[in-house]
Amino acid sequence: MRISVGHLYPGYLNIYADRGNIAVLERRAALRGHALEVRPIGIGEQPDLAGFDLLYVGGGQDREQALVAPDLVERAEAIQSANASGVALLAVCGGYQLLGRSYRGRDGSVMPGVGLFPHETVAGTARMIGDVLLECELEDGETRELAGFENHIGRTLLDPGAAPLGRVLFGFGNDGESGLEGCRVGRAIGTYLHGPLLPRNPWLADWLLAQALAHSSNGEPITLEPLADRLEASAFRVAAERARKRGGQR
Ligand code: GLN
Repeated sequence: MRISVGHLYPGYLNIYADRGNIAVLERRAALRGHALEVRPIGIGEQPDLAGFDLLYVGGGQDREQALVAPDLVERAEAIQSANASGVALLAVCGGYQLLGRSYRGRDGSVMPGVGLFPHETVAGTARMIGDVLLECELEDGETRELAGFENHIGRTLLDPGAAPLGRVLFGFGNDGESGLEGCRVGRAIGTYLHGPLLPRNPWLADWLLAQALAHSSNGEPITLEPLADRLEASAFRVAAERARKRGGQR
């Protein structure tokens, strides 16, 4: 099957090799005989976002975020209706912040957000940097771990009742206080985890592919046959161990 991916602002929001997440989705789709078609979406370009099966936005410094925020907020309605119609989405760090209601950066200026995720972000005083280990529970009730790397000054506060991506086992997470990391709305996932995230967390890559395939096939659930993932599993182990050594267990 063909999976259509809209990659928002790859020229601006691509810090910490977040582009690698797209490469992983392409490879894992191809290994199952599916084709990922990725369309970069730059400032001012107006593709129909509902026509994609998955939208992706990476991270960036405050400066790059401020450059794209006015264009991104113009897409708020389109992104929200794409999410409501089952388009999958992955947003990392700076992109995750701008898909909330707002991000007040280090200089005190407020960047308007899309309002997809029920949260607001305010820059704190100290950067939150290091390896992170999360415990996640998606809708199948199974708990799984996610390992990644965070580097952000923004503190993201989820609204009461908002669904996090996971609970912080080691690291800071959304704000360094709540013990929560990321956010989920339907098939949309936002997270602070860079690395890039997906090479070392193959289960999440496959979860996103399955959501995108379900959208592409008008809602039929798709199972993906498992891959060996030996290299991925050892990359996860290394990252998880680094996070454990960092401490800060909740
Ligand atoms: N500029 C934002 C912050 O510092 C996001 C950083 C990022 O995308 N790594 O919080």
